[in-house]
Amino acid sequence: TATTTAGLADRTSELLRSLGAEPLLPSAPNSGEARAARSPVTGETLGLVPVTVTAEEAVTAAASAFAEWSTVPAPVRGAVVRELGELLREHKSALGELVSIEAGKIVSEGLGEVQEMIDICDFGVGLSRQLHGSTIATERPGHRMMEQWHPLGVVAVITAFNFPVAVWSWNTVLALVAGDTVVWKPSEKTPVTAIAVQALADEAARRAGVDLPVTQLVLGERDAGEALVDDLRVALVSATGSTRMGREVAPRVAARFGRVLLELGGNNAAIVCPSADLDLTVRGIVFSAVGTAGQRCTSLRRAIVHESVADDLVDRLAAAYATLPIGSPLDPDTLVGPLIDEDAYTAFAAALDEARADGGIVVTGGERVDGPGVGSADGAAGGVYVRPAVVRMPAQTAVMRRETFGPILYVVTYTDLGDAIAVHNDVPQGLSSSIFTTDLREAERFLSPSGSDCGIANVNIGPSGAEIGGAFGGEKETGGGRESGSDAWKAYMRRTTNTVNYSSELPLAQGVTFGS
Ligand code: NAD
Repeated sequence: TATTTAGLADRTSELLRSLGAEPLLPSAPNSGEARAARSPVTGETLGLVPVTVTAEEAVTAAASAFAEWSTVPAPVRGAVVRELGELLREHKSALGELVSIEAGKIVSEGLGEVQEMIDICDFGVGLSRQLHGSTIATERPGHRMMEQWHPLGVVAVITAFNFPVAVWSWNTVLALVAGDTVVWKPSEKTPVTAIAVQALADEAARRAGVDLPVTQLVLGERDAGEALVDDLRVALVSATGSTRMGREVAPRVAARFGRVLLELGGNNAAIVCPSADLDLTVRGIVFSAVGTAGQRCTSLRRAIVHESVADDLVDRLAAAYATLPIGSPLDPDTLVGPLIDEDAYTAFAAALDEARADGGIVVTGGERVDGPGVGSADGAAGGVYVRPAVVRMPAQTAVMRRETFGPILYVVTYTDLGDAIAVHNDVPQGLSSSIFTTDLREAERFLSPSGSDCGIANVNIGPSGAEIGGAFGGEKETGGGRESGSDAWKAYMRRTTNTVNYSSELPLAQGVTFGS
């Protein structure tokens, strides 16, 4: 790993330059207020993040740009998104590498995140010619009733560290096509990829001949997010992150009658039935539970396994986990990269302690291991690396009902599918879910109204790894929002119902008469 992690700060500046963005400022001992960007790969400082505009300034510019942007025809707005997609294709490897350096994703997942941005751009270009309303039969003769979708206003996009660039694109592409302008507040843990993406978005607008600040970047901590949440000029707050954050954001936006789109924590499960194809199940489970070191909102955290196959499945999982290469995400052979920071390790270790106290048995993993960068020149303690854990639990206890953002898979057994579904749904979150079975009745029951209560329910696929064509989001404490494909664009627009009278009479609805 020494060769692949040498000079991450220099490499970051090189990548930023190649993406058309300013490099970071070098770290200095007395750098005052400026904030440092850090890599979870080695724990080292990448440089200082330049100061950008304030939330107030960004919203002022976005609100004034909206007045003009909202009058540009949607297919013309789509041109910005098309240019963005082209730029992302051109710079996929550089941006993917930056995602790996800053968020700690393995190479393939870093590239996959950029591919997801490209996919939503393709979707957005098509959508820009398909924003459509309905015509509806009216009860009044000589009348026509229809609905139209109009641009909404300024959209604030608040994002989490674990999808540092894709979540921005899901929101921004739909918002731009819808005629909205966007102010982005990325996670304070991932400012570098945000700077790179903003540079690409600016270039896309230039190439499309758009001379308006249709997308803007505000770097900062929680207070910058709060300023957007409270700003009356922000029509929609689309916030992705923890349920704790959503609990703070939702009532504040509601108090001013703004709109929210919330994409919050998940606690995703898989039910494994007696008829499951166990080879496929093991592969599906390992990818979903271990990918991104368990730091996806859709990561698999609970396996609810029929008692007849539980021992066999757990043995196979333990064997698969024993071969997982853990280390620098920049090494192409690695499958398990770092946790984002030391706090993530504290939560991981505390959850394992609590599970043990509840009678859980850690079948494999849970240890902390050395990663690259330990004892490196800048005194960084190194990245935070752990062995993914599988824990057999006697029942679904409190620790299993919480989202711990790391690679822990809890396993419980069931006898009756109805009970398994009840356990599955007995958590506060409702994002993604899956069932492994070759029995049609079991699969359909899981997808039915009395099956999974999540926004995403899969058969013979783990809960993670959604594609952009479907609507993405979840129920209960996951927040209820839907982003990305299907008709998620409607959240970024306002609907008007229009009735036109083309007759010379004035019949009233519901047969009401009023005078002569
Ligand atoms: P976080 O909640 O700590 O931070 C998310 C963002 O919210 C950051 O930009 C942060 O600065 C901002 N923020 C925090 N408090 C705020 C407040 N009171 N007002 C305004 N902004 C505020 O989340 P994180 O640790 O970066 O990300 C991990 C979490 O995100 C997990 O719970 C994960 O499940 C969730 N997540 C959900 C989805 C989804 O689509 N459902 C996707 C990715 C991540």
